[in-house]
Amino acid sequence: MPNATHPYHAQMNITARPQTVFVKGEGAYLWDDKGKRYLDFMQGWAVNCLGHSPAVVADALAAQAKLLLTPSPAFYNGPSLKLAKALVANSCFDQVFFANSGAEANEGAIKLARKYGALHRGGAHEIITFAGGFHGRTLATMSASGKKAFEPLFEPKVTGFPKAQLNDLDSVKRLISDKTVAVMLEPIQGEAGVWPATDQFLKALRALTREHGLLLIVDEIQTGMGRTGKLFHYEHAGIEPDIMTLGKGIGGGVPLAALLATEHASCFEHGDQGGTFNGNPLMCAAGLAVLDHVSKPEFLKSTVDAGLFLESELQRLSARHGLGEVRGRGLLLALDLKLPIGASIVAQAFADGVLLNSPQPDALRFMPALNVERDEIAEMVECLDAILTKAGAARRVA
Ligand SMILES: *Cc1c(COP(=O)(O)O)cnc(C)c1O
Repeated sequence: MPNATHPYHAQMNITARPQTVFVKGEGAYLWDDKGKRYLDFMQGWAVNCLGHSPAVVADALAAQAKLLLTPSPAFYNGPSLKLAKALVANSCFDQVFFANSGAEANEGAIKLARKYGALHRGGAHEIITFAGGFHGRTLATMSASGKKAFEPLFEPKVTGFPKAQLNDLDSVKRLISDKTVAVMLEPIQGEAGVWPATDQFLKALRALTREHGLLLIVDEIQTGMGRTGKLFHYEHAGIEPDIMTLGKGIGGGVPLAALLATEHASCFEHGDQGGTFNGNPLMCAAGLAVLDHVSKPEFLKSTVDAGLFLESELQRLSARHGLGEVRGRGLLLALDLKLPIGASIVAQAFADGVLLNSPQPDALRFMPALNVERDEIAEMVECLDAILTKAGAARRVA
């Protein structure tokens, strides 16, 4: 129930938030309005790939802000042309449409696949997605998601998203019919708790979709932009999807997302797609600064190294405290807690000045900046170690 006396009442109450107001960020750290410092292993939900307020992004924004903010999406602008060209040069795709959020990019991918079905597959429109998948919070992307908690919400949903099981090719095969136009998945299911599709499954899915003339759509909103140690996750599997969506890290902290497609799949016609702020030069200038940085081989190498260090530290914690597996790739990792203690660990870490995330009750997810330092990883692990020690002692007493 709305509570008019609550100090934060003017904002819709859409999630439980700590009553803390953040005022400043720098690299791996955030500060609140009381001056307390937090080590951030969420980074805006895998958004700040270069940490908080990185100079390269801040400078690019400041320079572009003085030059041109929005000429209108009816006209070309320099930063969006440059960024599209750079994304194409660094991927297997030929064309880009910019969006303002991941959900909007995915909504675009869904529309593009349906358009392809209308043009090339006799009106086929179904897109096979996966149980546990997360694709955003618009009506169509909630419908495409396989998140249990979404099921009863906002009925009736958008139809045409039958759900298969991750890493189970037969479950995909069983859903293919002449109504099918595409298969869409996250290479690592992030919100579900960091559950990776195997490289073998991705390869098999690519072969299967080719065999049936279906589009393969990868939602790399969380896994893209270097998060898993390659610029895009699909590279690990050595496949070339038809459509990819990017968000989160692509703007380095500002709202930018992208829909990419191969020449073959890129079939929008005038009037099919657009948006007032799409491809605005301000956000694209930030995107250019980010891509320039993140696409460098030595940067990706340092991300891989940081990921391996974090993984081995988490494995050490797991062994020491009798926890479960460490999953994921690069700097998108989860620690299986084996017990539903995620929320209490997150709350304790918050009190101790460390920001962690528990996407599922029995798992912690780690998504630090891609340039996270070893001593920052060590500081987080030390905090978590102390919390787990206390929690273990409490359980033994109970
Ligand atoms: C975060 C996320 C989205 C939604 O992006 P928004 O910018 O929040 O709309 C979609 N897909 C995946 C895999 C995500 O992680």
